[in-house]
Amino acid sequence: GSTIGILGGGQLGRMLAMAAAQMGYLVHIYAPDEHPCAGQVAALTTRGAYDDLESLGRFADSVDVVTFEFENIDAGALAYLAEHVRLSPPPRALEIAQDRVSEKMFVQDLGGRPAPFMPVESLLDLEAASHKIGTPAILKTNRFGYDGKGQIRLHEGSDLSDTWRQMGGVPCVYEGFVDFTAEFSLLIARGGDGRSVLYAEPENVHEHGILARSTVPAGHDVRAQAREAEALARKVADALDYVGLLTLEFFCGADGPVFNEMAPRVHNSGHWTIEGARTSQFENHIRAICGLPLGDPGLAAAAVQMDNLIGSDVERAVDALSDPRAHLHLYAKGEARAGRKMGHVTHIRR
Ligand code: ATP
Ligand code: MG
Ligand code: MG
Repeated sequence: GSTIGILGGGQLGRMLAMAAAQMGYLVHIYAPDEHPCAGQVAALTTRGAYDDLESLGRFADSVDVVTFEFENIDAGALAYLAEHVRLSPPPRALEIAQDRVSEKMFVQDLGGRPAPFMPVESLLDLEAASHKIGTPAILKTNRFGYDGKGQIRLHEGSDLSDTWRQMGGVPCVYEGFVDFTAEFSLLIARGGDGRSVLYAEPENVHEHGILARSTVPAGHDVRAQAREAEALARKVADALDYVGLLTLEFFCGADGPVFNEMAPRVHNSGHWTIEGARTSQFENHIRAICGLPLGDPGLAAAAVQMDNLIGSDVERAVDALSDPRAHLHLYAKGEARAGRKMGHVTHIRR
């Protein structure tokens, strides 16, 4: 087949569509937005809601394979889609990763080590978790969180009933705060034949819960823990019989890598691979879901740094090009709202 359907219309879909177009595939974007930024670079765009089964069915019938750049598709819609078309990655990976508690339990069963956590569905649960795990801690909504949204940090003496009210009563997870020295992620691409390739681990810096910078090679603390995390990433990908690109986020803890979360999709911390690796995460995702052999994930430069352009950062975007080895990516999203990912710059170092 030669048409790839992508659910979601953001920058990840845009960069996937560009990689797919390079290899001659037609891309059909499905998103609820009026002007999804991925639509500008795709052959076809359908505007539709993620729970509109009729519209999803027509979309599924128009493509050869469906992949995701957006994770929060409800289980009913996923099951419906799976009856009409091949889904890659497998819907089970999405279902597990949509729910922070199921994701942590899944990875823990494979030998991974998350921060101490407890599911919270009431003020009573919150009080019990706070008593058992203590502070500092973070309360996160179980579903639908991204870029640090839906999280409240708790300290000694934080008002729990106030916190619970702010969360609006949705199911949450209480996590002990990890006193990490660094953060990193792993990007693994796995093909339908069970072969997988891992990219060099980026060291990630977050500001206000949003990724600000990824650097490769990572620093000493990360490099010391990456091999153990890689073994876990392979186990997770194999256990899900995963096809496509999968991302796992980790903290460098005192006793080794602490699993934070996973994303069953291409990831912001892998944008450096467009110019910094021999095959980008986007190209390898497309290759995997189309049944093609995976490309070399090796570094194409001695060092690479990716800086996100968030909100008004975009006003100074072209300044980065005073470095002749910088590459500017703008997502053409329109209004530069605070906290919105507008683009990124990749610097090739040395
Ligand atoms: P995204 O999916 O966009 O990566 P998210 O909203 O799912 O983000 P998390 O990855 O859970 O958010 O958290 C965002 C950042 O907040 C982390 O990368 C880390 O810097 C910090 N953080 C989250 N959980 C913890 C924790 N238990 N201990 C210490 N820091 C944490
Ligand atoms: Mg997340
Ligand atoms: Mg995260």
